[in-house]
Amino acid sequence: MTVLVPVLGDQLSFDLSSLATVSQQDAIVLMMEVSDETTYVRHHKQKLVYIISAMRHHAQALREAGWRVDYMRLDNPDNSGSFTGEMARAIERHDPRQIVVTEAGEWRVSAMLDSWETIFGLPVSICRDNRFICSHKEFEAWASDRRELTMEFFYREMRRKTGLLMQDGKPACGRWNFDKDNRKPAKPDLLMPRPLRFPPDAITQEVIALVEMRFADHPGSLEGFDYAVTAADAERQAASFFADTLPQFGDYEDAMLTGERFLWHSILSPYINSGLLDPLDLCRRAEAEFRAGRAPLNSVEGYIRQILGWREYMRGIYWREGPGYVDRNFLNHKRSLPGWFWTGKTEMNCLHQAIGQTLATAHAHHIQRLMVIGNFALLIGADPKQVHQWYLEIYLDAYEWVELPNTLGMSQFGDGGLLGSKPYISSGAYINRMSDYCGACRYAVKERVGEDACPFNALYWDFLARHRDKLGDNHRLAMPYRTWDRQTSDDQTATRRQAKSFLESLNRS
Ligand SMILES: Cc1cc2nc3c(=O)[nH]c(=O)nc-3n(C[C@H](O)[C@H](O)[C@H](O)COP(=O)(O)OP(=O)(O)OC[C@H]3O[C@@H](n4cnc5c(N)ncnc54)[C@H](O)[C@@H]3O)c2cc1C
Ligand code: SF4
Repeated sequence: MTVLVPVLGDQLSFDLSSLATVSQQDAIVLMMEVSDETTYVRHHKQKLVYIISAMRHHAQALREAGWRVDYMRLDNPDNSGSFTGEMARAIERHDPRQIVVTEAGEWRVSAMLDSWETIFGLPVSICRDNRFICSHKEFEAWASDRRELTMEFFYREMRRKTGLLMQDGKPACGRWNFDKDNRKPAKPDLLMPRPLRFPPDAITQEVIALVEMRFADHPGSLEGFDYAVTAADAERQAASFFADTLPQFGDYEDAMLTGERFLWHSILSPYINSGLLDPLDLCRRAEAEFRAGRAPLNSVEGYIRQILGWREYMRGIYWREGPGYVDRNFLNHKRSLPGWFWTGKTEMNCLHQAIGQTLATAHAHHIQRLMVIGNFALLIGADPKQVHQWYLEIYLDAYEWVELPNTLGMSQFGDGGLLGSKPYISSGAYINRMSDYCGACRYAVKERVGEDACPFNALYWDFLARHRDKLGDNHRLAMPYRTWDRQTSDDQTATRRQAKSFLESLNRS
């Protein structure tokens, strides 16, 4: 009798824990493209192409490695459209004695897996996802006796656990964190590394045609799709990052430049999140670059912190806070996102660039997501759940376990400060310092009131004034509140009137 091993779309790893616990002889790997998963939010078209094509390539690779794979395509007329429906049909086909599956990445799918034993009357063994460096149990042990879940302390724990960048129990070169060295703006540079491009092969082209036909109303463009869809190509991109980009990753981590969507970032998150690359392996390789003297510590530490720290921490928070986390709305924000979030057509150049690039490529880097798009959504008081859905739809690397805490928690302050000790907000000055967007904008970044004033400026002060009851005691906001209090009441009134008129104009956009 066989063992049925469902492998989900973000489990495209050869050393997946479920595969490691069964023998090739007994196992039938089940892979399912189902419409429930393609439409529960309106995923960007490139995200759909990426996941489906990567799944089809992975199935092929598993077969070549000797696994029996039962693969259900989206366009199969018998496809029931759901994981549970496809499991039922596969059980009829194969009559397995057991189901073995690696734990799901998110609450919604996890509840589905939990229901299978009862529905199918078969033993279901759910294996820990050991592609993550920190298990749920370890995170809980770290978090349970703390008043504040500060990422920096979690990160240090992970450094100790893995030994990454450690020397005799202490951080290499005496410091845990080099973030302060990593805030340089960038200038256009002809020698800037370019990520590799992977033109669509026959399998990807077939998927592009399928997505174009079935999901024409989903956001985004498919033009120029050139992401890797195999582990081998993802590995090529990783090797190119370590060879050409990592040394300057740290310096320009927060910089933004018109027309440069990648800068010195790795562009590996989609591959890590779907299983084509292993996060710990990437951290170890980054460390090896430092030890070999090929990359400076500020870059290597910065890169490792993003993966070992932020990525693992976000997952820990997601599972710890439970399925209700998505409904948190500390600031009681209710505004709908303006329609141009789905077109990029706005006169605010920073948003036009960041959203336009996102629609064209399903990617924006961290600071574009946090300090341009997220900052704006927070300042206008957008409903955090809707903002979360937009991010989940639109980014190639978006899976709820990592996207939700980043968006609702870090970016929208929806959890009231669990994830960040103050809201990530700024006026136009920050965007002007870190990008070249303002020079080409119809608005004047230094103006606060008047027809040409940069909307971020009045919105920033209005946000602080509006939320004084909830944020006034936050010691990290003491300085801006003092600055606000020093302004004349005429200036304050003019600023708030400017913000009000801008917010009213959004209702018409
Ligand atoms: C509002 C918002 C939403 C986000 N949504 C997602 C998401 O859906 N999926 C996602 O993977 N990342 C998300 N991030 C984090 C970050 O923006 C992306 O991981 C990063 O831009 C991916 O590009 P990269 O691979 O070039 O990253 P790099 O800048 O090269 O960073 C290296 C790696 O670190 C990891 N990383 C960096 N920052 C974070 C972070 N805050 N949380 C988790 N991992 C991190 C990623 O795996 C990334 O590949 C979000 C950030 C914000 C502010
Ligand atoms: S002036 Fe304001 S709106 Fe225009 S690009 Fe700069 S920050 Fe954005």
